[in-house]
Amino acid sequence: MKVVKFGGSSLADGNGFAQAIKIITSDPERRVIVTSAPGKRQAGDIKVTDLLIKYAKQVINDQPTNTTLQQILDRYQAIANYFHLPDSQLTPIVDRLQNLPNGNYPNDHYLLAAFKAHGERSNAQLMALVLNHLGHPARFVTPTTAGIRVSGTPNNANVIPETYSLLEQFTAKQDDELLVFPGFYGITLAGHIATFSRGGSDITGAILARGLHADLYENFTDVDAIYAANPGVVDTPQPIRKMTYREMRELSYAGFSVFHDEALIPAIEGNIPINVKNTHHPEKPGTLIVPDKDFQPSDIVTGIVSGKHFAALYLHKYLLNKQTGFTLRILEILAKHHVSYEHMPSGIDDITIILDRNLVDDQLIDTISNEIQEAVNPDRLEWINNYAITMVVGEGMRNRIGVINDILAPLAHQHIAVPMINQGASRISIMIGTNDHDADDAVRAIYHRFFAN
Ligand code: ASP
Repeated sequence: MKVVKFGGSSLADGNGFAQAIKIITSDPERRVIVTSAPGKRQAGDIKVTDLLIKYAKQVINDQPTNTTLQQILDRYQAIANYFHLPDSQLTPIVDRLQNLPNGNYPNDHYLLAAFKAHGERSNAQLMALVLNHLGHPARFVTPTTAGIRVSGTPNNANVIPETYSLLEQFTAKQDDELLVFPGFYGITLAGHIATFSRGGSDITGAILARGLHADLYENFTDVDAIYAANPGVVDTPQPIRKMTYREMRELSYAGFSVFHDEALIPAIEGNIPINVKNTHHPEKPGTLIVPDKDFQPSDIVTGIVSGKHFAALYLHKYLLNKQTGFTLRILEILAKHHVSYEHMPSGIDDITIILDRNLVDDQLIDTISNEIQEAVNPDRLEWINNYAITMVVGEGMRNRIGVINDILAPLAHQHIAVPMINQGASRISIMIGTNDHDADDAVRAIYHRFFAN
C-alpha cells in the first residue's frame, strides 16, 4: 500500500485535482491520499492557508471578513465547478467555513489553528466528493476519526505515540475505499485542532505512512526531483536519485525545503521509503529517500546547501579550558530566554555559539549579552549578525580521505574566508561557516568541484 500526499501547488485548481486523480487511480496500491490546502495557481496568487490566516485575524480584531471569506469559498467553488459537482454537495464545506467564527476556542491561538486547518480539511473533503462523483469510491477521514493526536502549542504541534495505537485500530476496520485525509493538523487531548508548523502536510503523510504500515510514501510536489544544490544558486544542478534519511535531514536543516524536515521522523521510525515526485511528470523517477542500512552512495557528495539565517555569539576568555561551569552558565542564560543554540564550536580559549537569527531580536541580543558579560566576564564578547552555514553532505564522504581539502581548496581559490569548520560525528557532513554574502559563491565553488563532470 502507498500513502500519496499532494502539495498545495498540485491541488490549487480543477486541473491540478484532475492530474492528482489520474495519478491516484493509475496505481491500485495508492490507497491513502493526503491533501494540502489549495496553493498558488500562478505567481502573485495567495495560498488558501494565508487567506485563512487573514480571515482568522479579521475575526480576532473584529474586522469585516466578507471579502476574505468569499476569496476562500471561490477557490473551492472553482474546483467543484471544474468537475460539475452539484452545488448541494459543496454546501457542508461552505457552511463550515462560514461558521468558523462561531467555534469554541480556548484562546486566539487555537482559533488561528482551527481556521488554518480548514484549508486542508475542506480540500480533503472536496477531493473525496470529486472522487466519488467520478466513480471512484472514496471516504473523507478526519484526524478525529483516525486518531491523529498531538501535543505542543496550537500552531506548532507534535504527534504523540498514542496516534500509532489509534491508527492500528483504525486500519483493522477498512474496506476497499480510497481514504482521503487532510494534512497539516491533529487533535489535542482536550479535543481541539492544532496544526503542525507551516508546510506540515508532509508530516501527516509520514504519520499515516508509518501508522498504516505503507510500503512507500509518495510525496507529490511541483519539482522533478530534489537537486544537489538550490537551482536558484547553481545553474541546472544534478537531480538526486537516491539519498538516505540522514542526508536529507542534514540538507533540509540548512535549507532544502522540498520536504518538511519534521516529516522524516515518522518515516524513519517506520522504516518507510519516501519518493518525492512531480505531479506534472509522474513518470519521472523523482528522489527516493531510504534508510542508510546497505545504502551504496554513487557520488562522494550528495548535496550542498547554505542557510543564511544564522547569527553567532563569540566569546574569548584566557584559560577557558581550566574553568568549570563556564559554558553551563551561558547555556542557562539562553535557556532562561527560551533560545536554543544550533552549534557550539570551541577552541582552548574561545567558543562560538551559533543561533537561529529568527529566534532573537535586537533587544534580546542586548539582554543576553549583558547577562553573559555579568555572569562569566569574558575577555571578549562579540555578536556576529551575518553568519551563514554551508552544509556539504554525502554518505560517500564517510570513508574518503582528503574530502576536506576538496571542499576548502575551491573556497581558498575564490578568497572566501572560512571562520568555522565542523565535521558531524556521523562523518557524512561537513559544515562550513562563512559570512552570509559569501554563502552562494561557496555553494557554487564546492558544487563545481564535485559535480563538474
Ligand atoms: N497549507 C499549509 C501551509 O501552507 C501546510 C502545507 O501546505 O503543507 O503551510
